[in-house]
Amino acid sequence: MAKDKCELKNGWYNWCNGMKKSLEGEANAKRKGFIQVNLFNFKKGTESCLGVAYKKSMHDKGIMLNYCPFCSQIILNTPKLKDKNTRKELEERKKE
Ligand SMILES: [Zn+2]
Repeated sequence: MAKDKCELKNGWYNWCNGMKKSLEGEANAKRKGFIQVNLFNFKKGTESCLGVAYKKSMHDKGIMLNYCPFCSQIILNTPKLKDKNTRKELEERKKE
């Protein structure tokens, strides 16, 4: 069955059809458009999805989206942002 809403499940998002079509290629690929941002927790050794960043150009660092532009669901995995280390990890990722 086709999904029309983004849904967070066990730290990962099941994207809606619109977002699914927009998210193509590797997470850290040097390209423009929507990029899925994953977060690796060094303490726990687990990986999860933080959300989606939008890049205006190949060299743009990208901005994190808080809402899905296709289905309006909140797509920022916010509880983890309360953690200082996680926020630092996000900053490190943006520099890559
Ligand atoms: Zn969506």
